[in-house]
Amino acid sequence: MLATALTLLRPVRARHLLEPALADRKVDTEAVRATLRDHYSHPDGFCRHVRADDPAEVCSVYSIVMDLDARELAIAPHPACEFPYTTWRLDDLFARQDDAPRWVKEMPHV
Ligand SMILES: [Zn+2]
Repeated sequence: MLATALTLLRPVRARHLLEPALADRKVDTEAVRATLRDHYSHPDGFCRHVRADDPAEVCSVYSIVMDLDARELAIAPHPACEFPYTTWRLDDLFARQDDAPRWVKEMPHV
């Protein structure tokens, strides 16, 4: 990904969007997903669409949210503002596979 001046603004924008949830100490995956669907500073927001006037410009490919407490991985295809996230339990993805790395099999289950 290209680093631009907007790269410096994105963390500030994310904190602004998450501020109500942060104040309540209730940042959940839905709040993070809503942040990643944000179009502020379009076309350079978090959710970056393909631009018809500049198809070579950077755009979002997937939106990925991982909840390490719940051990879940959620992915939405591009553009994330138009598609739901599909969620997988990490334990289901890795821990039961015979070829999973040993460290994955030995991870404590929550
Ligand atoms: Zn979008």
